[in-house]
Amino acid sequence: MIIAETIEQARNAVAQARNVRPHAHKTASQAQGTMSQARNVGFTVGLVPTMGALHEGHLTLIRRCRTDCDCTVVSIFVNPVQFGTGEDLESYPRSIEADLDVCRTLGVDLVFTPSARQMYPGENLTWIDVDRITDHLCGESRPAHFRGVCTVVAKLFNIIMPDIAYFGQKDAQQLAVIRRMVADLNMPIDIRPCPTVREPDGLAMSSRNRYLAPGQRRQALCLRRALLCAEELIGAGQTDPAAITAAMQQIVDEQSDAQIDYISIVDNELLQLVTCIDSQVLIALAVRIGPARLIDNIVVDPPAAKA
Ligand code: AMP
Repeated sequence: MIIAETIEQARNAVAQARNVRPHAHKTASQAQGTMSQARNVGFTVGLVPTMGALHEGHLTLIRRCRTDCDCTVVSIFVNPVQFGTGEDLESYPRSIEADLDVCRTLGVDLVFTPSARQMYPGENLTWIDVDRITDHLCGESRPAHFRGVCTVVAKLFNIIMPDIAYFGQKDAQQLAVIRRMVADLNMPIDIRPCPTVREPDGLAMSSRNRYLAPGQRRQALCLRRALLCAEELIGAGQTDPAAITAAMQQIVDEQSDAQIDYISIVDNELLQLVTCIDSQVLIALAVRIGPARLIDNIVVDPPAAKA
């Protein structure tokens, strides 16, 4: 344990902790050792959990973490247990060298890049399930997904022990689930949401956008168009979720390669389906465009709730 009693000691300890940059840690105990050094000098530690193939969406989370925290940790781990059979675990884009370069450029203090064997050395018998919030949206179409997400995020929290963790609104259900897990399990971690970062034409940035051929990339804009249409309808006074989802469906169905997984309108806390839009809602959709399953969402306040 490092105890800094003078400015010089503190500076040395800071330098020591900063020295890990841009070294990648491959084991949980390496990462834990570095983090306890950082915390012992009173650093605020921030964590940005990712699956790598970093893009501007991730970078925004990392920059925010750098601004808020003394010590920024990025984890890069394609978590096998959150993928279902037949999903894209094997083909998920991996670009570790480029990711490390990006982290280096952004001044990340620690990159945690464990192997699957490190994270799951034996059969995993302990899982975290968050009820209700996972009933609909991706929880319905990817049944074991959030259990895998919560379990790995809890493990990352236990390894890094961050004060603050950053999650994107792009994965709105994931954000809601993690917030609830942290509250229900009394995890002493501040969850900070970050807005969805989009390409100039409106497509939400995603590692899976790399799967899209140019024609499919154009078709993928239907997700954002459908969400903006929903927002406009609600702004004009439409309160019937069925009418809104029908309009959204029509927009998506115009694209030859698009296959709707779900379009749902839910309350923005427990993510339960609403029958009338009279308070804030989360409108979310998942659409397969060729090989890519894309998700996007928008939070909308009806005019009555704004008044
Ligand atoms: P992933 O690597 O896809 O698991 O994402 C890691 C984190 O980055 C999650 O908290 C995501 O919500 C967030 N993220 C991914 N894409 C975006 C985006 N376009 N805008 C904001 N955050 C994002």
